[in-house]
Amino acid sequence: MRLVLASNNAKKLTELQALFAPLGFALVTQGSLGIAEAEEPHITFVENALAKARHAAQHAGAAAIADDSGLCVDALGGSPGVLSARYATLFGRTKSDDENNRVLLEQLASHTDRRARFVSALVTVRSADDPEPLIALGRWEGEVLREPHGTGGFGYDPLLFIPSLGKAVAELSAEVKNTHSHRAIASRQMLALMREVWHLG
Ligand code: IMP
Repeated sequence: MRLVLASNNAKKLTELQALFAPLGFALVTQGSLGIAEAEEPHITFVENALAKARHAAQHAGAAAIADDSGLCVDALGGSPGVLSARYATLFGRTKSDDENNRVLLEQLASHTDRRARFVSALVTVRSADDPEPLIALGRWEGEVLREPHGTGGFGYDPLLFIPSLGKAVAELSAEVKNTHSHRAIASRQMLALMREVWHLG
């Protein structure tokens, strides 16, 4: 079955492709079908993922999946949250992973409570007007480090230390990240939902 992925983030595509391989899905990016990125105007991951999935399904005329994800830091009231990808721009800085990480360290400089989590909301729809979207949420608990560690992954991976693994996410192999991550947790839930509700596999 073909599922259109409502994201053009190559790193996310690689992770999700590995996670969805068990159900025999071919994930096709919306970009490869000439579909533009959807707006993400909402204040929750779930609402943004639903908007993205609907947009892709409408333009592709096919089933679609969207991930909206980010880092939520307790001491910052859940920020950067849905604005994770462009956090630095809120402070007049350039949009990049490195700048986002620098701004996060600055914002947390005086805080001893470093608790944070990666959150992934995955939404699949069979069509743009599907009244029963499938929704899965994954959370990966950690602590924000005081300096970057590791070179793997993307985004905030060098700054999130996972106590249960004793490493920053950017120090994990792709296989280990794909076993434990917020996206892996949400993907496993989503696979179970698709099997149950869409009668797959
Ligand atoms: P989205 O593409 O609007 O969902 O934004 C996702 C943003 O959240 C990314 O650009 C990263 O800043 C952050 N993010 C999401 N997942 C991860 C991850 O697995 N590692 C590191 N950062 C992530």
